[in-house]
Amino acid sequence: MKKQKICHYCEGKGYVEIRDCTAEIQREETCVFYEGTGYIIEEKEANN
Ligand SMILES: [Zn+2]
Repeated sequence: MKKQKICHYCEGKGYVEIRDCTAEIQREETCVFYEGTGYIIEEKEANN
């Protein structure tokens, strides 16, 4: 099993709720991090 860490920006949903100043949800936008997957993509580190 792969361990996946959720994106804390969108809390693993893959999108974020855009709220106005009254905290009303205006729209949902694909999370700009990790290609909108909601999960942290760990980049392979160079081992050599
Ligand atoms: Zn995210």
